[in-house]
Amino acid sequence: MSEIISLVNELERKNIKVTQQRRIILGILNNNKGEHLSARDIYTLGKDIDDSIGLSTVYRTLNLLRDVGIIAEYHFDKEFAKYEISCQKEQDIHHHLICKNCGKIIEVENYLPGYFKDEIYDKNQFICQEFSLKVSGLCKECQQLLSEEKTS
Ligand SMILES: [Zn+2]
Ligand SMILES: [Zn+2]
Repeated sequence: MSEIISLVNELERKNIKVTQQRRIILGILNNNKGEHLSARDIYTLGKDIDDSIGLSTVYRTLNLLRDVGIIAEYHFDKEFAKYEISCQKEQDIHHHLICKNCGKIIEVENYLPGYFKDEIYDKNQFICQEFSLKVSGLCKECQQLLSEEKTS
């Protein structure tokens, strides 16, 4: 719960009004870490809390939160954008493995070595503030499923 307060504080620091609906949307994202919700998922969950929330409010709020860096937007597939709270701490940085067969998203810890940022800077004079790695392939279950299909 303390984390939601720090997120709200951060919004206020950026001079963004924390309306009831924005707070609800932030709360949903905070309570569903690792879920990678779509705008529609958030809308459905938000409706249960406050039925005056509209889908357009959800879209607008997500765009706003994304633009100020509070949440991250991902395009794992051609379908819908997915959202999650941005990694505030270095140790929270994670990457995503996306199964092409069933669409499952697996979070993995940050394997990129510490010298990555330094190397980027040395070669490009570019300050790396955020990075993510998207790996697509086949999950364990789907590998099994597909190999069984081949043999039967
Ligand atoms: Zn994630
Ligand atoms: Zn799969």
